Amino acid sequence: MATMKAVQYVTFGAGAEVREVEKPTPGPGEVLLKVTAAGACHSDQFIMGMPAGPENPYRLPLTLGHEGAGIVEALGPGTKNVEVGEAVLVFGPQGCGRCHACAAGNENNCENFMDAPGINHHGAMAEYMIVKDVRHLVPLGDLDPIASASLTDAGLTPYHAIKPAVTRLIPGTTAVVIGVGGLGHVGVQILKAMTSTRIVALDVSADKLAFAREVGADEAFISDEGAIAQVRALTGGRGADVVFDFVGAQPTLDLAHALVAVMGEVVIVGVAQGSIPVGYLTMKFDTSVRVVNWGTRAELMEVVELARRGAVAIHTEEFTLDQATEIYERMHAGTLRR
Ligand SMILES: [Zn+2]
Ligand SMILES: [Zn+2]
Repeated sequence: MATMKAVQYVTFGAGAEVREVEKPTPGPGEVLLKVTAAGACHSDQFIMGMPAGPENPYRLPLTLGHEGAGIVEALGPGTKNVEVGEAVLVFGPQGCGRCHACAAGNENNCENFMDAPGINHHGAMAEYMIVKDVRHLVPLGDLDPIASASLTDAGLTPYHAIKPAVTRLIPGTTAVVIGVGGLGHVGVQILKAMTSTRIVALDVSADKLAFAREVGADEAFISDEGAIAQVRALTGGRGADVVFDFVGAQPTLDLAHALVAVMGEVVIVGVAQGSIPVGYLTMKFDTSVRVVNWGTRAELMEVVELARRGAVAIHTEEFTLDQATEIYERMHAGTLRR
Protein backbone atom coordinates (compact mmCIF):
# COMPACT_ATOMS: atom_id res chain seq x y z
CA MET A 1 0.00 0.00 0.00
CA ALA A 2 1.39 3.38 -0.99
CA THR A 3 1.14 5.84 1.88
CA MET A 4 1.44 9.60 2.38
CA LYS A 5 1.54 12.13 5.21
CA ALA A 6 -1.66 13.95 6.08
CA VAL A 7 -2.68 16.44 8.78
CA GLN A 8 -5.82 14.99 10.25
CA TYR A 9 -8.41 15.83 12.85
CA VAL A 10 -8.85 12.40 14.44
CA THR A 11 -10.50 12.77 17.85
CA PHE A 12 -13.26 15.28 18.72
CA GLY A 13 -11.85 17.93 21.04
CA ALA A 14 -8.21 17.04 20.32
CA GLY A 15 -5.85 18.98 18.06
CA ALA A 16 -4.58 18.15 14.56
CA GLU A 17 -2.22 15.18 14.13
CA VAL A 18 0.31 14.37 11.42
CA ARG A 19 -0.39 10.79 10.31
CA GLU A 20 0.71 8.27 7.71
CA VAL A 21 -2.39 7.36 5.67
CA GLU A 22 -3.18 5.53 2.45
CA LYS A 23 -2.37 7.52 -0.71
CA PRO A 24 -5.72 7.92 -2.52
CA THR A 25 -6.51 6.69 -6.04
CA PRO A 26 -8.74 8.86 -8.27
CA GLY A 27 -12.12 7.32 -9.14
CA PRO A 28 -14.12 7.95 -12.33
CA GLY A 29 -14.17 11.66 -13.22
CA GLU A 30 -11.81 12.52 -10.34
CA VAL A 31 -8.35 14.10 -10.29
CA LEU A 32 -5.38 13.27 -8.06
CA LEU A 33 -3.37 16.37 -7.16
CA LYS A 34 0.14 16.46 -5.79
CA VAL A 35 -0.35 19.22 -3.22
CA THR A 36 2.10 22.11 -3.56
CA ALA A 37 0.64 24.29 -0.77
CA ALA A 38 -2.23 24.40 1.72
CA GLY A 39 -3.43 27.22 3.95
CA ALA A 40 -4.16 26.94 7.66
CA CYS A 41 -7.28 28.90 8.52
CA HIS A 42 -9.08 30.05 11.66
CA SER A 43 -12.12 28.09 10.52
CA ASP A 44 -10.06 24.92 11.07
CA GLN A 45 -9.99 25.98 14.73
CA PHE A 46 -13.76 26.45 14.55
CA ILE A 47 -14.13 22.88 13.19
CA MET A 48 -11.87 21.43 15.88
CA GLY A 49 -13.55 23.46 18.60
CA MET A 50 -17.03 22.06 18.00
CA PRO A 51 -17.99 19.52 20.70
CA ALA A 52 -18.71 15.87 19.82
CA GLY A 53 -22.35 14.79 19.62
CA PRO A 54 -25.30 14.56 17.22
CA GLU A 55 -25.01 18.27 16.32
CA ASN A 56 -21.42 17.85 15.12
CA PRO A 57 -21.48 17.46 11.31
CA TYR A 58 -17.87 16.33 10.87
CA ARG A 59 -16.87 12.77 10.13
CA LEU A 60 -13.48 11.76 11.51
CA PRO A 61 -10.71 11.19 10.69
CA LEU A 62 -10.71 14.25 8.43
CA THR A 63 -7.70 15.58 6.52
CA LEU A 64 -7.78 19.36 7.10
CA GLY A 65 -7.10 22.09 4.55
CA HIS A 66 -9.83 23.94 2.62
CA GLU A 67 -7.26 26.18 0.94
CA GLY A 68 -5.21 24.15 -1.53
CA ALA A 69 -2.91 24.36 -4.53
CA GLY A 70 -1.43 21.47 -6.48
CA ILE A 71 -0.17 19.92 -9.68
CA VAL A 72 -2.37 17.42 -11.53
CA GLU A 73 -0.67 14.07 -10.86
CA ALA A 74 -3.13 11.53 -12.29
CA LEU A 75 -6.62 11.33 -13.78
CA GLY A 76 -9.32 8.85 -12.83
CA PRO A 77 -11.09 6.77 -15.51
CA GLY A 78 -12.93 9.02 -17.99
CA THR A 79 -11.63 12.30 -16.51
CA LYS A 80 -11.35 14.91 -19.28
CA ASN A 81 -10.48 18.56 -19.91
CA VAL A 82 -7.39 18.73 -17.70
CA GLU A 83 -3.77 17.74 -18.34
CA VAL A 84 -1.37 15.93 -16.03
CA GLY A 85 1.19 18.51 -14.89
CA GLU A 86 -1.18 21.50 -14.83
CA ALA A 87 -0.82 23.85 -11.81
CA VAL A 88 -4.16 24.61 -10.17
CA LEU A 89 -5.98 26.04 -7.17
CA VAL A 90 -8.82 24.04 -5.64
CA PHE A 91 -12.17 25.86 -5.45
CA GLY A 92 -13.50 25.14 -1.94
CA PRO A 93 -17.29 25.57 -1.62
CA GLN A 94 -18.21 22.71 -3.92
CA GLY A 95 -21.94 22.35 -4.54
CA CYS A 96 -24.05 19.76 -6.34
CA GLY A 97 -23.44 21.43 -9.73
CA ARG A 98 -27.06 20.85 -10.79
CA CYS A 99 -29.41 23.09 -8.77
CA HIS A 100 -30.43 26.62 -9.81
CA ALA A 101 -27.91 28.30 -7.49
CA CYS A 102 -25.09 26.16 -8.92
CA ALA A 103 -26.32 26.79 -12.47
CA ALA A 104 -26.19 30.53 -11.78
CA GLY A 105 -22.61 30.14 -10.57
CA ASN A 106 -23.46 30.49 -6.89
CA GLU A 107 -22.09 27.10 -5.92
CA ASN A 108 -21.12 28.51 -2.52
CA ASN A 109 -24.85 28.76 -1.80
CA CYS A 110 -25.87 25.41 -3.35
CA GLU A 111 -29.45 24.44 -2.53
CA ASN A 112 -28.47 20.84 -1.81
CA PHE A 113 -25.18 20.68 0.07
CA MET A 114 -21.74 22.10 0.66
CA ASP A 115 -19.01 19.55 0.03
CA ALA A 116 -15.78 21.37 0.81
CA PRO A 117 -12.31 19.82 1.01
CA GLY A 118 -10.92 19.88 4.53
CA ILE A 119 -14.42 20.37 5.93
CA ASN A 120 -16.74 17.75 4.42
CA HIS A 121 -14.17 15.52 2.72
CA HIS A 122 -10.39 15.06 2.90
CA GLY A 123 -8.60 18.33 2.23
CA ALA A 124 -5.29 19.74 1.09
CA MET A 125 -3.08 19.25 4.15
CA ALA A 126 -1.55 16.10 2.76
CA GLU A 127 0.96 15.13 0.12
CA TYR A 128 -1.88 14.25 -2.28
CA MET A 129 -5.57 15.02 -2.49
CA ILE A 130 -8.54 13.96 -4.59
CA VAL A 131 -10.62 16.60 -6.40
CA LYS A 132 -14.01 15.21 -7.33
CA ASP A 133 -14.61 17.19 -10.51
CA VAL A 134 -12.40 19.14 -12.92
CA ARG A 135 -14.66 22.19 -12.61
CA HIS A 136 -13.24 22.77 -9.11
CA LEU A 137 -9.75 23.31 -10.57
CA VAL A 138 -8.81 26.92 -11.32
CA PRO A 139 -5.67 27.41 -13.44
CA LEU A 140 -2.78 28.90 -11.47
CA GLY A 141 -0.22 29.23 -14.27
CA ASP A 142 3.20 30.26 -13.04
CA LEU A 143 2.00 31.94 -9.82
CA ASP A 144 3.78 30.75 -6.66
CA PRO A 145 1.54 28.11 -5.04
CA ILE A 146 2.63 29.01 -1.50
CA ALA A 147 1.69 32.65 -2.00
CA SER A 148 -1.52 31.65 -3.82
CA ALA A 149 -3.13 28.74 -1.93
CA SER A 150 -4.94 31.11 0.45
CA LEU A 151 -6.48 33.03 -2.43
CA THR A 152 -9.10 30.25 -2.35
CA ASP A 153 -10.53 31.54 0.95
CA ALA A 154 -8.58 34.46 2.43
CA GLY A 155 -8.66 36.05 -1.05
CA LEU A 156 -12.02 34.81 -2.33
CA THR A 157 -14.15 35.64 0.73
CA PRO A 158 -13.17 39.34 0.91
CA TYR A 159 -13.56 39.55 -2.87
CA HIS A 160 -17.10 38.15 -2.64
CA ALA A 161 -17.80 40.67 0.15
CA ILE A 162 -16.50 43.66 -1.83
CA LYS A 163 -17.46 43.00 -5.48
CA PRO A 164 -21.21 43.76 -5.12
CA ALA A 165 -20.35 47.06 -3.35
CA VAL A 166 -17.88 48.26 -5.99
CA THR A 167 -20.37 50.35 -8.00
CA ARG A 168 -21.35 52.40 -4.96
CA LEU A 169 -17.75 53.07 -3.86
CA ILE A 170 -17.24 56.06 -6.16
CA PRO A 171 -14.89 59.03 -5.53
CA GLY A 172 -15.97 60.89 -2.41
CA THR A 173 -17.18 57.78 -0.61
CA THR A 174 -15.62 56.08 2.40
CA ALA A 175 -15.26 52.36 3.10
CA VAL A 176 -14.37 51.20 6.60
CA VAL A 177 -12.58 47.88 7.09
CA ILE A 178 -12.83 46.58 10.65
CA GLY A 179 -10.14 43.99 11.51
CA VAL A 180 -7.02 43.91 9.36
CA GLY A 181 -5.96 40.30 9.94
CA GLY A 182 -5.81 37.35 7.54
CA LEU A 183 -8.86 38.39 5.50
CA GLY A 184 -9.06 42.10 6.29
CA HIS A 185 -5.62 42.95 4.90
CA VAL A 186 -6.68 41.31 1.64
CA GLY A 187 -9.93 43.29 1.75
CA VAL A 188 -7.95 46.55 1.90
CA GLN A 189 -5.97 45.54 -1.20
CA ILE A 190 -9.09 44.52 -3.14
CA LEU A 191 -10.78 47.85 -2.29
CA LYS A 192 -7.65 49.66 -3.47
CA ALA A 193 -7.54 47.67 -6.72
CA MET A 194 -11.24 47.86 -7.58
CA THR A 195 -12.57 51.17 -6.25
CA SER A 196 -11.68 54.82 -5.81
CA THR A 197 -13.18 55.02 -2.31
CA ARG A 198 -11.27 56.31 0.71
CA ILE A 199 -10.24 53.25 2.75
CA VAL A 200 -10.29 53.55 6.53
CA ALA A 201 -8.91 50.62 8.53
CA LEU A 202 -9.88 49.99 12.15
CA ASP A 203 -8.18 47.48 14.42
CA VAL A 204 -7.34 47.03 18.10
CA SER A 205 -3.65 46.53 17.28
CA ALA A 206 -1.33 49.41 16.33
CA ASP A 207 0.88 46.92 14.42
CA LYS A 208 -2.04 45.86 12.27
CA LEU A 209 -2.93 49.49 11.59
CA ALA A 210 0.61 50.16 10.35
CA PHE A 211 0.29 47.02 8.23
CA ALA A 212 -3.09 48.26 6.87
CA ARG A 213 -1.43 51.49 5.70
CA GLU A 214 1.36 49.45 4.06
CA VAL A 215 -1.18 47.49 2.00
CA GLY A 216 -3.23 50.51 0.93
CA ALA A 217 -5.41 51.99 3.69
CA ASP A 218 -5.68 55.80 3.46
CA GLU A 219 -6.43 56.17 7.17
CA ALA A 220 -6.06 53.80 10.11
CA PHE A 221 -7.49 54.21 13.60
CA ILE A 222 -7.71 52.18 16.79
CA SER A 223 -11.21 50.69 16.84
CA ASP A 224 -12.54 52.11 20.09
CA GLU A 225 -15.32 54.70 20.65
CA GLY A 226 -12.92 57.37 19.40
CA ALA A 227 -13.08 55.80 15.94
CA ILE A 228 -16.68 56.94 15.55
CA ALA A 229 -15.70 60.62 15.96
CA GLN A 230 -12.66 60.16 13.70
CA VAL A 231 -14.70 58.66 10.86
CA ARG A 232 -17.41 61.31 11.29
CA ALA A 233 -14.79 64.05 11.13
CA LEU A 234 -13.34 62.58 7.93
CA THR A 235 -16.72 62.28 6.25
CA GLY A 236 -18.29 65.62 7.22
CA GLY A 237 -20.51 63.81 9.71
CA ARG A 238 -21.96 61.43 7.15
CA GLY A 239 -20.32 58.18 8.19
CA ALA A 240 -19.12 55.27 6.08
CA ASP A 241 -20.84 54.33 2.82
CA VAL A 242 -19.87 50.70 3.37
CA VAL A 243 -18.53 49.06 6.53
CA PHE A 244 -16.85 45.68 6.06
CA ASP A 245 -16.63 43.87 9.40
CA PHE A 246 -13.96 41.17 9.18
CA VAL A 247 -14.42 40.28 12.86
CA GLY A 248 -18.20 40.04 13.32
CA ALA A 249 -18.05 40.20 17.13
CA GLN A 250 -20.55 42.27 19.13
CA PRO A 251 -18.23 45.26 19.74
CA THR A 252 -17.23 45.48 16.06
CA LEU A 253 -20.82 45.15 14.84
CA ASP A 254 -21.87 47.87 17.30
CA LEU A 255 -19.16 50.00 15.75
CA ALA A 256 -20.37 49.15 12.21
CA HIS A 257 -23.93 50.07 13.23
CA ALA A 258 -22.74 53.43 14.56
CA LEU A 259 -20.51 54.17 11.56
CA VAL A 260 -22.72 53.33 8.59
CA ALA A 261 -24.13 56.30 6.65
CA VAL A 262 -27.71 56.81 5.45
CA MET A 263 -28.17 54.61 2.33
CA GLY A 264 -25.02 52.74 3.34
CA GLU A 265 -24.28 49.08 3.75
CA VAL A 266 -22.83 46.85 6.47
CA VAL A 267 -21.13 43.72 5.16
CA ILE A 268 -20.46 41.03 7.76
CA VAL A 269 -17.53 38.78 6.86
CA GLY A 270 -16.18 37.70 10.27
CA VAL A 271 -17.62 34.58 11.88
CA ALA A 272 -17.64 35.75 15.51
CA GLN A 273 -21.47 35.61 15.56
CA GLY A 274 -22.35 39.00 16.98
CA SER A 275 -25.55 40.59 15.65
CA ILE A 276 -26.77 43.97 14.47
CA PRO A 277 -30.22 45.42 15.21
CA VAL A 278 -32.10 46.09 11.98
CA GLY A 279 -35.43 47.87 12.15
CA TYR A 280 -37.28 51.13 11.71
CA LEU A 281 -35.38 53.86 13.61
CA THR A 282 -32.83 51.33 14.95
CA MET A 283 -30.93 51.47 11.66
CA LYS A 284 -30.24 54.52 9.49
CA PHE A 285 -32.66 54.97 6.59
CA ASP A 286 -32.14 52.93 3.43
CA THR A 287 -29.18 50.99 4.79
CA SER A 288 -28.75 47.29 4.19
CA VAL A 289 -26.88 44.50 5.95
CA ARG A 290 -25.34 41.55 4.13
CA VAL A 291 -23.73 38.39 5.49
CA VAL A 292 -21.25 36.74 3.14
CA ASN A 293 -20.45 33.11 2.51
CA TRP A 294 -17.08 32.30 0.83
CA GLY A 295 -17.34 33.03 -2.96
CA THR A 296 -17.97 31.72 -6.47
CA ARG A 297 -15.69 29.93 -8.90
CA ALA A 298 -15.73 32.85 -11.34
CA GLU A 299 -14.78 35.17 -8.49
CA LEU A 300 -11.83 32.90 -7.63
CA MET A 301 -10.62 33.30 -11.22
CA GLU A 302 -10.95 37.07 -10.81
CA VAL A 303 -8.96 37.02 -7.54
CA VAL A 304 -6.23 34.99 -9.25
CA GLU A 305 -6.14 37.66 -11.96
CA LEU A 306 -5.67 40.39 -9.32
CA ALA A 307 -2.83 38.35 -7.80
CA ARG A 308 -1.25 37.87 -11.23
CA ARG A 309 -1.20 41.65 -11.69
CA GLY A 310 0.36 42.11 -8.27
CA ALA A 311 -2.70 43.98 -6.97
CA VAL A 312 -3.35 41.42 -4.22
CA ALA A 313 -0.73 39.59 -2.19
CA ILE A 314 -1.49 37.52 0.89
CA HIS A 315 1.14 37.77 3.59
CA THR A 316 2.11 34.25 4.60
CA GLU A 317 4.39 32.38 6.94
CA GLU A 318 5.72 29.12 5.57
CA PHE A 319 5.69 25.76 7.37
CA THR A 320 6.25 22.10 6.52
CA LEU A 321 3.52 19.50 6.88
CA ASP A 322 5.26 18.14 9.98
CA GLN A 323 4.88 21.51 11.71
CA ALA A 324 1.08 21.54 11.32
CA THR A 325 0.33 20.74 14.96
CA GLU A 326 2.55 23.65 16.02
CA ILE A 327 0.84 26.02 13.52
CA TYR A 328 -2.58 25.35 15.02
CA GLU A 329 -1.19 25.81 18.54
CA ARG A 330 0.31 29.16 17.50
CA MET A 331 -2.89 30.16 15.73
CA HIS A 332 -4.80 29.38 18.92
CA ALA A 333 -2.33 31.48 20.93
CA GLY A 334 -2.72 34.35 18.45
CA THR A 335 0.95 34.58 17.49
CA LEU A 336 0.41 34.02 13.76
CA ARG A 337 -0.24 36.95 11.46
CA ARG A 338 -1.81 34.59 8.95
ZN1 LIG B 1 -10.89 29.41 5.73
ZN1 LIG C 1 -26.22 22.95 -6.17
